[in-house]
Amino acid sequence: MYLGIDLGGTKIAAGIGDEKLNLDKTIQKPTPQKREEILEEIRKIAEDFCSQFEIKSIGVGVPGAVNNDGAVVKIPNLEGWDNFPLEEKLNSMLPKKTYIENDANCAALAELVAGAGKKYDNFIYITLSTGIGGGIVIGGEIYRGAEGTAGEIGHMIIDVNGPQCGCGRTGCWEALASGTAISKLAKETPEITEEGKEVNAILAADLAEKGNESALKIFQKVVEYNAIGISNLANILNPQAVILGGGLTKRTKLVFDPLVEELKKRNVNTIIEKAVHETGVMGTIALAVKNTT
Ligand SMILES: [Zn+2]
Repeated sequence: MYLGIDLGGTKIAAGIGDEKLNLDKTIQKPTPQKREEILEEIRKIAEDFCSQFEIKSIGVGVPGAVNNDGAVVKIPNLEGWDNFPLEEKLNSMLPKKTYIENDANCAALAELVAGAGKKYDNFIYITLSTGIGGGIVIGGEIYRGAEGTAGEIGHMIIDVNGPQCGCGRTGCWEALASGTAISKLAKETPEITEEGKEVNAILAADLAEKGNESALKIFQKVVEYNAIGISNLANILNPQAVILGGGLTKRTKLVFDPLVEELKKRNVNTIIEKAVHETGVMGTIALAVKNTT
């Protein structure tokens, strides 16, 4: 068995699974504020699992960039993690060999090890969710780049005159087509409203699926921006496939199918597949499996 621990901005999820990512026991804890408290929580979780099960190794996913030496470069929503040597620290604290990786790369690994990417050596995993992230697999390995931060596809510029992005630039893919971007547009659109419901990307998608014209317009643009981003990537990397995960991808008729159509119109012939694994924990177990077997 392998233990996966997915550190998120609001929760820490953990679980165990085998080489084929058959998931067994999982747990969830709220993410504490301070770094030391988070490390302590991870230690408790690991010791608890390792005392009950035969664990070969541990994978830990973090919601930020990780360099090639296993140090966290930065976690956007948590303080005190800049340039923190997390892999080294965890290996001094935890009972089994531990690997760390950026969460989007973990998700790509889940597809590679036992998901939609199993039959490919070269593919791009893209999560269309609250944010837009990705993992690039070349020759059966994550492409990490010179410093380990490759694959930040959400910050590819799609429209130079586009809205401000959290990274400081304007017109990034994420600023135009992520769940956060859709929520922002929905709040600026008076027609997107339903009594007793919060106006966000989920409501916008629900209304668009019911035929709300204003909401549909937002999603038509979202599909177009996603198609531009994917076609740029396909042109550069010529992958065997693009594997899409994240909440937006699950909206088959509203997002996934129109996106496949839009790509065909743009002469992008890359195979587009849906991701099989949707939880962060699967990716962290895949990280442990990939490094151990
Ligand atoms: Zn950006």
